[in-house]
Amino acid sequence: MLVKDHVGLKEYNTFGIEAACRQWITGDDADELLEFVTARALKPGEVFVLGGGSNVLFTADFPGVILRPAMKECAVAGENATEVLVRTGAGVPWDDFVRWAVERGLGGVENLSLIPGHVGATPVQNIGAYGVEVGERVARVEAIDMLRGQKVAIDAETCRFGYRDSIFKGEWKDRFIITHVTYRLSKNPCLRLEYKGVREEVERLGEPSLALVRQAIIRIREHKLPDVKQLPNAGSFFKNPVVETALASRLLESFPDMPLYPAGEGRAKLAAGWLIEQAGWKGRSIGEAAVHDRQALVLVNKGKATGTAILHLANEVKKGVFMKFGVWLEPEVTIL
Ligand SMILES: Cc1cc2nc3c(=O)[nH]c(=O)nc-3n(C[C@H](O)[C@H](O)[C@H](O)COP(=O)(O)OP(=O)(O)OC[C@H]3O[C@@H](n4cnc5c(N)ncnc54)[C@H](O)[C@@H]3O)c2cc1C
Repeated sequence: MLVKDHVGLKEYNTFGIEAACRQWITGDDADELLEFVTARALKPGEVFVLGGGSNVLFTADFPGVILRPAMKECAVAGENATEVLVRTGAGVPWDDFVRWAVERGLGGVENLSLIPGHVGATPVQNIGAYGVEVGERVARVEAIDMLRGQKVAIDAETCRFGYRDSIFKGEWKDRFIITHVTYRLSKNPCLRLEYKGVREEVERLGEPSLALVRQAIIRIREHKLPDVKQLPNAGSFFKNPVVETALASRLLESFPDMPLYPAGEGRAKLAAGWLIEQAGWKGRSIGEAAVHDRQALVLVNKGKATGTAILHLANEVKKGVFMKFGVWLEPEVTIL
C-alpha cells in the first residue's frame, strides 16, 4: 500500500484539471485497505474513491483522502454450459478486460470496447454504449463498506442498475470501495448489432464475430470522440434526459425532428446532444472551456481551463437547454 500526502491530481483525471488532495492511498490488498480505513475511522465523505478519473470533475482541491484501488487480477471463478464467471480486480483498466474477454471468445461486453476507466467504476456508473449496459453482465460486486468497516459481497439485483445509475450513486453514494467485480460472460455470444451504425461498420469489416464487433466499435469511437490526450474531457458530460411521454409529445409538436427513444412505461429518452446543439451551444467556448464541435454532449478543456470554468460552462449549457425546451440536463460526471 502506498500513502502520500498532498498529491497533484492533474494526471489522474482525463479533464486534466489541476487540483490536489490532502492524502493519496493506493493498494491492491483489500484487507490492508480495510485496516487503513478502520484504523483511521475514516467515514464516507472523507474518502473519495478514484478509478481512472475519466468521469470526474475537480472544481477545487479535495480536502480528504483519495483512495485508488489497484487490484489487478482477472480470473475465471466458475462456469456452466453457457456462461463463464470472471472475477476482476477494481484496478484493471476496463478495456483490458474487454480485450481479454474477446480474445477468449467470451461475449457480452464487446460493445463496451474502449470506454476509459477502471473495472471498479463500471457498476457505479453502469457504463453503457451501443445498446449494451454493463449491469446486464455484473454477477457480483465485492467491496469495503466504510460505514460498517467490513468487506461485503453485493449481488447484481441489490446494485439497482438504471440508466448510468446504480445504488452506489444514490443511497450508497461514497460508502463503498469496490475491490472486485465478477462478470457473467457468454460462451455462445449473441452479437448485438442493432444500435445505429454498428451493423454497417461490422459488415464493412467482414463476417460478424466478437473480434469484428470490438474492432468496429473502436473505429466508430475513435472517429466520433475526442482523444483525451489531445483534448482533455470526460466523455458525455450530461445524461440523456428521461421525461414523461406527455412532455415528450408536447415537445415533438414544436420540434418534429427531435430524436426520441422509449424508456419504459410512460417515459421517453431525449438526446441531450441534440438538445444542446439546438440550443446553439455546439462548438461554443467560454474561455478555455468548450462544447466539442462534433459531439455537443462532450465538454472539453482547451488547455488551461479550471474545474470551475468547466462547471460554469456546463451550467450555461443547462440554462440554454432549459430556456428552449423546459428540460433540465443532469450531469453524468461526478462533480467534486
Ligand atoms: C472519451 C470518453 C468516453 C467515454 N465514453 C463512455 C461511454 O461510452 N459510456 C459510458 O458509460 N461512459 C463513458 N465515459 C465515462 C467513463 O469512462 C466511465 O464512467 C467510467 O466507468 C469511469 O471509470 P473511472 O475508473 O475513470 O471512474 P472515475 O472517473 O475515477 O470515477 C467515477 C465515479 O465512480 C466512483 N468509483 C470509481 N472507482 C470506484 C471504486 N473502485 N469503488 C467505488 N466507487 C468508485 C468514483 O468515486 C466516481 O464517483 C467516457 C469517458 C471518456 C473520457
